[in-house]
Amino acid sequence: MELAQTSVAPEKTTLDPWSPPTLRLVCLDIDDTLIDFSAASRFALAALIGRGDMWPLWERVTDAHVAMVVAGELEYASMHRRRTQCFLAELGVFLDAADVTVFELRRKEILRQSWRLFDDVLPCLEWLRAAGVRLAAVTNASGAHQRAKLADLGLAGYFDHIAIAGEIGVAKPDPVIFHSVCASAGCDPAEAAHVGDKLGVDAVGARDAGLGAVWLDRAGCDDVDVPCGVHVVSGLDELPELLVSEFARLGIPAQR
Ligand SMILES: [Mg+2]
Repeated sequence: MELAQTSVAPEKTTLDPWSPPTLRLVCLDIDDTLIDFSAASRFALAALIGRGDMWPLWERVTDAHVAMVVAGELEYASMHRRRTQCFLAELGVFLDAADVTVFELRRKEILRQSWRLFDDVLPCLEWLRAAGVRLAAVTNASGAHQRAKLADLGLAGYFDHIAIAGEIGVAKPDPVIFHSVCASAGCDPAEAAHVGDKLGVDAVGARDAGLGAVWLDRAGCDDVDVPCGVHVVSGLDELPELLVSEFARLGIPAQR
């Protein structure tokens, strides 16, 4: 009896140095990843309330309101005003909706005059562009605010895709925002990596959505247990080496 012939496709080896890179998309958070947002925000808050010791309270109130947005309990569009109203109430200052709007407009005006890029941002973005990956900004903030920020600092032209929580209606760490930007770039989550300064929101969120996960720990937090599957860099100057050596899925760009 003669056996039927079966055709076997040649096995694809992952070690073939001529294979095209399989990391097709690198996503970057904006605030405190590309832009020293906390310093600018701290400055703006202190300028408005006349004291510099309320930043921890501001961060706690902000985190609580972002969590409500992620849980679907609060519309993103009203989050900033609700957050600020709540923060000022903690200080014993009770503003109506109109006054809170004025406060927020003034705070954002001061912010816009104060934000700066970290020194390692432009070399890293240039390297990533030269490496041939697509770039996305993935951020939890309002759309107009973030687009103005990218434009003011000359970053808009670096990004092929921009995913903003205030425009999409969901915020990190919801996998929907990560999957949305991957779909825009035409790649699978496994072909993407996300880099951000918040361990839970950025790195764990990206990992759980199926992307490569990189926590940007600029402060060098020694006492943190880094979750499985999360890579750590202390600056964006370390990102190219990580992508090449740990992810091993990216070609090294030619010298220019
Ligand atoms: Mg951030």
